[in-house]
Amino acid sequence: MKLQIQTGLNNKILRKKAEEIKNISDEKEFIEELKKFLKKSDDWVWVASPQVWFSKRIFLAQFDKKNTTVVINPKILKFSEKKVVWKEWCLSLPWIFWDVERSKKIVVEYFNENWKKIKMELKWFWAIVFQHEFDHLEGVLFFDKLVNWEFEMDKKMTEKDLEKLWIKV
Ligand SMILES: [Zn+2]
Repeated sequence: MKLQIQTGLNNKILRKKAEEIKNISDEKEFIEELKKFLKKSDDWVWVASPQVWFSKRIFLAQFDKKNTTVVINPKILKFSEKKVVWKEWCLSLPWIFWDVERSKKIVVEYFNENWKKIKMELKWFWAIVFQHEFDHLEGVLFFDKLVNWEFEMDKKMTEKDLEKLWIKV
């Protein structure tokens, strides 16, 4: 299994709603591959499986620097009214680094790789990245949620960069 990061706003795998996991044992091999893949790249990464052309409801999360958590079939049970604006970036849209508005606090539920149901409250950075990765499973990219978007003012972004966002599939 060769994993490769999928990029582009119109990439069809990134735009598809990912499937629920019914049997964790079918996904073990993929999960191991994804962990290995991440070890080779940055040491501080969250990644959702559609980003490597695998349309299932799994993402890897780092709630701290040392441990990688496998998040399966996540749900967001509660969104706080209070929002925060944060600059986001994505492996699948590496050309943009821009403001997104999200709930400051969320309550989530998911299964871990031992198929144990976990419920927790997340705040700030953790809440933001969880919402970002959850969106990947829904076929939503952070570009869809940009606020304060004035790319003319972004000196680093040329027209060519913008073109790259629109990959024809
Ligand atoms: Zn992303």
